[in-house]
Amino acid sequence: MHPVLHDRRYLIPFRATLLPQIFTDVLVVGAGVAGLRAALAAAERGGDVIVTLKGDVQQSNTYWAQGGIAAVMDPADTVEQHVSDTLDAGGDLCNPSAVRGVVEAGPAAMTELLDWGMPVDRGAGNGPALGREGGHSCRRILHAHGDATGRALAVTLDGLARRHERIRLFENCFVLDLITDSSANPRCLGAVTHHPKYGLQVIWAKATILASGGCGQVYRESTNPAVATGDGLAMAYRAGAQLADMAFVQFHPTTLYVAGAARSLITEAVRGEGARLIDRNGHHFMPEYHELADLAPRDVVARAILDRMARTAFTHVYLDCRHIAPDRFAQRFPGFRELLRKFDIDPTVDPVPIHPSAHYMVGGVLTDLDGRTSVPGLYAAGEVACTGLHGANRLASNSLLEGLVFGRAAGLACRELLDEKPTAPAKVISDIRPSDRAELDLPDVRSSLRSVMWRQVGIQRDGDRLDEVSDMIEFWARYTLDKIFDDRAGWEVQNLLLVGALITTAAHWRKESRGTHYRVDYPQPEAAFHVHDIWHKYDSGPSPLPVDWYADEASNGPKTYRSRWGL
Ligand SMILES: Cc1cc2nc3c(=O)[nH]c(=O)nc-3n(C[C@H](O)[C@H](O)[C@H](O)COP(=O)(O)OP(=O)(O)OC[C@H]3O[C@@H](n4cnc5c(N)ncnc54)[C@H](O)[C@@H]3O)c2cc1C
Repeated sequence: MHPVLHDRRYLIPFRATLLPQIFTDVLVVGAGVAGLRAALAAAERGGDVIVTLKGDVQQSNTYWAQGGIAAVMDPADTVEQHVSDTLDAGGDLCNPSAVRGVVEAGPAAMTELLDWGMPVDRGAGNGPALGREGGHSCRRILHAHGDATGRALAVTLDGLARRHERIRLFENCFVLDLITDSSANPRCLGAVTHHPKYGLQVIWAKATILASGGCGQVYRESTNPAVATGDGLAMAYRAGAQLADMAFVQFHPTTLYVAGAARSLITEAVRGEGARLIDRNGHHFMPEYHELADLAPRDVVARAILDRMARTAFTHVYLDCRHIAPDRFAQRFPGFRELLRKFDIDPTVDPVPIHPSAHYMVGGVLTDLDGRTSVPGLYAAGEVACTGLHGANRLASNSLLEGLVFGRAAGLACRELLDEKPTAPAKVISDIRPSDRAELDLPDVRSSLRSVMWRQVGIQRDGDRLDEVSDMIEFWARYTLDKIFDDRAGWEVQNLLLVGALITTAAHWRKESRGTHYRVDYPQPEAAFHVHDIWHKYDSGPSPLPVDWYADEASNGPKTYRSRWGL
C-alpha cells in the first residue's frame, strides 16, 4: 500500500470537549442534490438536520450540471431499456441491484420534483421534453432552461430545505474530519468543522450523511468547480470507511478549449442534437471508432479524441454544430451559446474547439442500498459514494438521478438511529506534533499534483508511469501531510494528495482496461479483475468484492453483508 494511505487520523490537533459544541440528530455534509435530498428525507422522519456546505449553494457540481436527469418517462421507453443501457455503459461491473433500484425509482423521483415545482422544459402536450444523450437508447433526459438543469434542481431543493423548520444550512462551513469514538469498531459521532467567523467547532450527530461530491480538482483539466477537492473521500478514508473502485474516473470528452477560459463542459446533448466531432482537417472521425459514432460512451469518445489529437499533432479537436438550425440551437442551448459569445465564437459559423477533462468520480465510499457505509453512524450518497450503480463507467445523466434516489434512501435510513440518546461530547483527542520541516509553497504542490495526475493518471495509464507518480506523491506527502494548516487551502491540498494516492494505487492494482480505466499495458478486460476493489486504511492491499454484492447478501442471508463489515 502507498505510505500516504496510512497517514494520520485527523488533519489537525484538537480536544473535542474544549471546542464549541453543536448538537443535532442528523449532520449532512454537502448541499448538492444528494445532500439536500437526504436532508429533506431525514427531516421528514422527524429529525433535526444541519447541512454544512463549503461555500454557498452555487458551489457544487449539482448547480453546474447541464444535460439533465435520466428517467423513464416516455411511454415508448421502459425500465428494462434504461437498466440495459446503464449496464452496457458500466463495463460489466455495475451492481445490478443498485441499477434496478435507481432506474425503477426514477419516474417517482421525477414526479416528486415536478410536484415540488421544479421547472423543466416542456414538449408536445405540455409533458416534459425528453432529450437523448450518449449511451441512451431512448429519449429520457429531462432538462430545464435548455442546459441549466442543475441550477433549476439546486434552487428547487435549496428552497425547500431553507423553508423546512427542522433543517439549518451552515454556509461557508468546512468539514475537516469525521469524528469517531475509540471503540474496536469505531462509530461516527459527527464532525470537526471550521467557519471563517466562528473558527473550529464540533457538530455531534446521531447520524452523519456524507454528500460532499467528487474530486475533479485532483486533475489539472476538470469540469468540476473549485469545491470538488475530494474532502469527503479523504475524511471517510481517514475515519476507517471502506472505499471502492477508486481507479474509475470519468473524463468528459467535450470541454471548451480556449486559452484562459475555464474548462466549461459542453453537454453531450449537443451531440444528441446532431453535432459532430471533427479534427483540424475537418474530418468527422467518430464513425471509425465506434458504431454509435458521436454518441458512443464517454470513455470511447475521450480516447478517440486523444488519438485524433496525436494523429493530427494538434492540441484539440472541434465540435461541429454548423448544421443545427440557429433557432433550435439558441432555444436548446442558451447557456452554451452565451458562453461561446464571450469568446467571439458563433457555433452556427465556427467549429467549437474542444478537448477532454476529468468530470466524474465513479468510485467512492462503499455503501449498501440504503447508503450505509462500513462505519456505523456514517451514511454516504451522491458522487462521494460508490453504490455500484455506475460500475466502471457512468451513463450520462444517471448521477443526478442517483443523488435523488440514494440521497432520499440515506435520509430515510438514518431514522434507525434517531431514537438513540443524544451523542454526548466524547473525549476525542487528536495529538499531532507541529512539523519542523521547511515552509511550503502550497500552490506549487497543488498544481504539480494536478498536472501529473492529468498527464499520467488520466485517460490513458501505464504501469511504469503509475509507479513514478506514486513515488512523486509520496515525496510531496512527506513534507505536506506532516504540516498542521489553519485554513482551507492547506486542508484541501492534504485531501487532494490522499485522493490522488488512492486513485493512483487503485489504477496500478487494476491490471486491465475496463470502463473509464484504460491501461495501455493491459488494454483488455481481465477475468481476474472482474470485481470491485475495496480500500481500507488498515489493510495492506485491496480486498475484492463480488460484482453484485447485494445478490451475494441475499443468497447468504441479510446479515452477511453487514457482518462482513462487523456491524
Ligand atoms: C459541469 C458538470 C455538468 C454535469 N452535468 C450532469 C448532467 O447533466 N446530468 C447528471 O446526471 N450529472 C451531471 N454532472 C454530474 C453531477 O452534477 C454530479 O455528479 C452530482 O451533481 C453530484 O451531486 P452531489 O450532491 O453528490 O455533490 P455536489 O453537487 O458536488 O455537492 C457537494 C456539496 O458538498 C459540499 N462540500 C464538499 N466538501 C465539503 C467540506 N469539506 N465541508 C463542507 N461541505 C463540503 C460542497 O460545498 C457542496 O455543497 C455534471 C457535473 C458537472 C461538473
